[in-house]
Amino acid sequence: MSKHTQTSRPSHFLLTRALPALIVTIMIGVGVLALLAWSSHETDRISLDRQARLVELVVSQLQTAVAHDQESATVWDDSVTMARAGDQNWLNNNLGQWMHDYFGIDGAYVLDPADRPVFAFTSGAMADPSVYSDIADKVAPLVKALREKMRDGDDSQVSDTVLSPGVSDLVVVRKHPAIVSVKPIVSDTGALSQAPGHEYFHVAIRFLDGSLIDELQNDYLFADLHFSWTPGSEPAVSSQPLKSAKGEIIGYLVWHPYRPGSAVMANVVPVLVAVFLLVLIVIAVFLILHHRRSEELKDSEEQIRYLALHDPLTGLPNRLNFNNEVDQALALRRHEPIALVYLDLDRFKQVNDTLGHPMGDALIREFSQRLQATVRPGDIIARIGGDEFTILLRGEIEEINRLCEQMVDVARRPFEIDGNTVFVGVSIGAALAPVDGVDRVSLLRKADVALYYSKTTGRARYSFFTQEMDQTIEQRRQTEADLRLALRADDQLQVHYQPIRSARTRRTVGYEALLRWKHPERGMISPELFIPVAEETGLIEALGARVLKDACSAAVNWQAMTIAVNVSGVELDNPEYAAKVQAVLAETGLLPKRLELEITETTATGETDAAVENLRVLREIGVQIAIDDFGTGFSSLGRLQSLNVDRIKIDRSFVRGLGQNINDAAIVRAIVDLAHAKGLKTTAEGVETPLQDEGLTRIGCDDLQGFLYSRPLPRLEVDRLPPEPDPVP
Ligand code: C2E
Ligand code: MG
Ligand code: MG
Repeated sequence: MSKHTQTSRPSHFLLTRALPALIVTIMIGVGVLALLAWSSHETDRISLDRQARLVELVVSQLQTAVAHDQESATVWDDSVTMARAGDQNWLNNNLGQWMHDYFGIDGAYVLDPADRPVFAFTSGAMADPSVYSDIADKVAPLVKALREKMRDGDDSQVSDTVLSPGVSDLVVVRKHPAIVSVKPIVSDTGALSQAPGHEYFHVAIRFLDGSLIDELQNDYLFADLHFSWTPGSEPAVSSQPLKSAKGEIIGYLVWHPYRPGSAVMANVVPVLVAVFLLVLIVIAVFLILHHRRSEELKDSEEQIRYLALHDPLTGLPNRLNFNNEVDQALALRRHEPIALVYLDLDRFKQVNDTLGHPMGDALIREFSQRLQATVRPGDIIARIGGDEFTILLRGEIEEINRLCEQMVDVARRPFEIDGNTVFVGVSIGAALAPVDGVDRVSLLRKADVALYYSKTTGRARYSFFTQEMDQTIEQRRQTEADLRLALRADDQLQVHYQPIRSARTRRTVGYEALLRWKHPERGMISPELFIPVAEETGLIEALGARVLKDACSAAVNWQAMTIAVNVSGVELDNPEYAAKVQAVLAETGLLPKRLELEITETTATGETDAAVENLRVLREIGVQIAIDDFGTGFSSLGRLQSLNVDRIKIDRSFVRGLGQNINDAAIVRAIVDLAHAKGLKTTAEGVETPLQDEGLTRIGCDDLQGFLYSRPLPRLEVDRLPPEPDPVP
């Protein structure tokens, strides 16, 4: 059986189970990560936005704060007075140095109503007012705007918290981004009046790249905050443009923003990845376990399937499997013939009975191996029963013939099994598709018929089915069935007795028991016809027992007569046969030496262990053994020497030729001489003419049997026979 399903399993498993599970898991993992990345990105975006707005707010608050700080000293009568007086020290103490120390102002200037500088404070110290010229052009627009405001009396800015109008903006001053705030110096009491637009102005400058940066860093925890003329180019930094009132960008505040989303990601992702990997591992372990489990299940399923389709002893396909193969082969058949071959081992039962079942099994295994070595790849051998095999062969008839011949041959070679040399042989029957049929059932039946034919015509051979076989088989079947009935009925079977006469004394010395069957419809049926059927079907044992019992009980009354009874090889193979004979002898009271059992030459030479033992026991108790139909079996005259028997019955085929055929006379003489040389007695069968009688007597044959003297007679007739007259001298 092919195992291709096994090799494709892992990839199938990967495709249908592992891969989808892996993809789903990875998709979930990626989905979670993507969600996390998105939310962290959103969080970061909101946070960056807030930080930018915070920077903006801080700068704008600072702008307000500078103006507010200025008011603490510019809305003051003393300041108006001192500005007019141009008291440098006072101005420095209150509008310059003091503001620097107290409010962190980086530069301070006082301008007279004509916008001329009257006081200057820069770089942490009072300076000559002329330094104002460095920044004048930058500050002038603001001064101009405030002048107009003052002139117009625009005090829309003034409130509870803002004491005077002012103008402020973000300007680059001395290469620094700065808040420049201009405030008028006005009376706080209103005691000192000034013409609108003719006030002294106070200009405060606060750099945005100085101490402000440290404050922002410390107060709002901006990392790496600094001023830059260009926006930060790295993606990791944030920058907020510093814009003048007109919307001009004067530079940027740049920092490394705090990204809470990324921070969370950095913490969470490793944990998440670890969890995800763990889940993957768990899934993988689960999948592997599941895979193994289902593999085991599949294996055992396959095992069960294998067992269901194979013979456990030989590993060959079984009947079911074979039938499937045959059906398939027949369905796909093209032009070449297909042969269904039936094989049955000869004498297998004897091997099993005498050597035991383990030996029988070993023989079957060995035989199946020989068969497998004989057939070609593609031929299918199946074991369908104890010693029965079927084979599906394809090919031309010559090839099938050759294979059958080879199979007969390999079976004939001795089997060495556990120290025993066993001879079996195989009988083969074959049927061919399409000549004998195209359906499995009829082909197998015909192969079986052909096998039966091989078995009944000598075994160790092969036959192809023919129509005639079918009829023979049918007849045999009928005979078997009728024989069973006959055994039960008491008027169909009878034993007749044929007298055997001494050639020397011319008196009857014994009788041979011969079975007669009177069929209610078919009339007398010859033993030549029904004995082989009985042997095949095992009915012979019942028949034999019946004849033996009848013969022994009859012979008890026939004085010193010998009673000859035919024994089939099948009966002798039964290890209990000798005991059965002894029982009959004991029961009838017949002396063992008066019983003569006739066995065939084939039985005598091809003895099984059981037969040998039976014969040994029987001879030991005095039963005589004769070889029936001598000259027709396998053994030659030479074999006569080795046969362990008491008598030879010369087959009537030789007797028939006496007086006509010189050869036959020579053969009979040779047999008689050899028998005598060995101390055996001889009987000639089928003596029909006085000429034969004369010849046989001359040759020295001991006893004579034939229609010349008497036909086989019913027991009652023998009982009533008158005493024989004394021999003529
Ligand atoms: P067999 O043992 O050789 O028996 C002798 C056969 O020759 C008998 O045939 C007998 O009727 C026949 N016969 C006797 N004299 C003559 C003759 O002058 N001319 C011719 N042509 N035939 C003669 P039968 O009774 O038909 O038996 C045939 C065979 O059947 C026997 O041959 C024997 O082998 C077998 N048989 C008969 N009865 C039994 C039995 O009870 N048990 C067994 N196992 N075999 C039996
Ligand atoms: Mg006989
Ligand atoms: Mg005979």
